[in-house]
Amino acid sequence: MFVDRAVIEIGAGDGGKGAVSFRRAAGIPKGGPDGGDGGDGGDVIFAVEEGLNTLVDFRGVFHWNAEAGEAGRAKQQYGARGADRVIRVPAGTLVYDNKTGAQMADLRPGDRVVLARGGRGGRGNESFKSPTNQTPRTAEPGGKGERFEIRLELKLIADAGLVGLPNAGKSTLLGAISRTSPKIGAYPFTTLSPQLGIAELDPDRRVVFADIPGLIEGASHGAGLGHDFLRHIERTRIIVHLISVLPDDGSEPAANYRTIREELRGYSTELAEKPEIICLNKMDLLPDEDARTAAVKDFRAALRLGHDAEVLALSGASGLGTRAVIERVWKALHPRGEVESGWKAGVT
Ligand code: GDP
Ligand code: MG
Repeated sequence: MFVDRAVIEIGAGDGGKGAVSFRRAAGIPKGGPDGGDGGDGGDVIFAVEEGLNTLVDFRGVFHWNAEAGEAGRAKQQYGARGADRVIRVPAGTLVYDNKTGAQMADLRPGDRVVLARGGRGGRGNESFKSPTNQTPRTAEPGGKGERFEIRLELKLIADAGLVGLPNAGKSTLLGAISRTSPKIGAYPFTTLSPQLGIAELDPDRRVVFADIPGLIEGASHGAGLGHDFLRHIERTRIIVHLISVLPDDGSEPAANYRTIREELRGYSTELAEKPEIICLNKMDLLPDEDARTAAVKDFRAALRLGHDAEVLALSGASGLGTRAVIERVWKALHPRGEVESGWKAGVT
C-alpha cells in the first residue's frame, strides 16, 4: 500500500545534576551553600511542516536526541537548559510506540507536540538549606530524559499515477527516477501491488509517483487486477501515460494509447478528465534521431493530436528524457511555480 514507514529512537535530554558548593570569599571563611541547580534536559518535539510528503529523511538515521541540561555550578549558577530537538514531519504522520504499539500522535497541519520530555535539572545544595541544616552537602542528580523507540507511518497519495499497458515500461521508469526498486519482468502482472516512487528534482521539489500495474483492457469491468488499482489513481492529480514506441507484440502505439484511455473513461469520467502527460517510451529501441522524430510524428498523426498536446519522448531504460518528464509533472502540479508541494496525506 501507499505507506511510508520509519523506525527511529527519540531521546530527550537528561537533566543536569545539581552542584554542591560553598561560598568562599575573603573574610568569609565558612560561607553558606551556593551550589546551583542543573538545567532541564531538552525535549524531542515533532513539528508538522507543510510541503513535506515523505519520511525519506528518516532513512539511515536511527537516533534523534535532544541535548542534556548542564550541571549546576558554584556561586548559584544554574546549568543551562538543554536544546530541544525539533523534528520536522509531514502532516498525516502517525506515531506509535514501537514496543507497546500504542499510538502516541496523529499529526495534523500546524501541530507541534512534545513526544519525549527532557529530565528535570537536579537541585543544587543551596536549595536544601533550612533552619536546621545550614550546610547541606546534598544535591540531586538530574532526571532521566524520556526515551522511546517509535514507528512513524505516513499514508501517501501519489501526485502522479503511471498508467500504461503491461510492458510499457512503468516499473522500469519508476526504478530509474526514484529510490525504490520495483520488481521488473517481461510479462504482465509481475507487479502485484502499486509501487510508490519518490522522484527528487532537488530537495525542495519531490514528486510522488505511483506505478499502477495491471491496467489492461477490461479492467474497468473488474478483469485482472486493474479494478483495485484504478481506485488508487483516482486519488492522484495527474496521469502519466506511458506507451511503448515499439511494442513487443507488434501492436500500434496509438492503438495502445486508446485502449488505456478507454479503460480510464470506462472507470470514471473524473479519472478520464484528469490532466494527462503522454510519454512515448523505449525510444532507445529506435536506431537514430530520424527514426525517433518520425515515430513521434506518426504517433501524433494517428491520434490527431493538436499543436497544444505535448508528447514527451523518453527511454526509462537508458534514462534519456526521464528528467524532463519529472519536470513536466512538477510544472503541472505547481502551475504557479511555488516550491512547496503541499502535504498530501490521508487514507488511500
Ligand atoms: P511494466 O509492465 O509497464 O511495468 O513494464 P516493465 O518496466 O516491467 O518493462 C517491461 C519490459 O520492457 C522489460 O523487459 C523491460 O526491461 C523493458 N523495458 C522497459 N523500459 C524500457 C526502455 O526504455 N527501453 C527498452 N529497450 N526496454 C525497456
Ligand atoms: Mg510493472
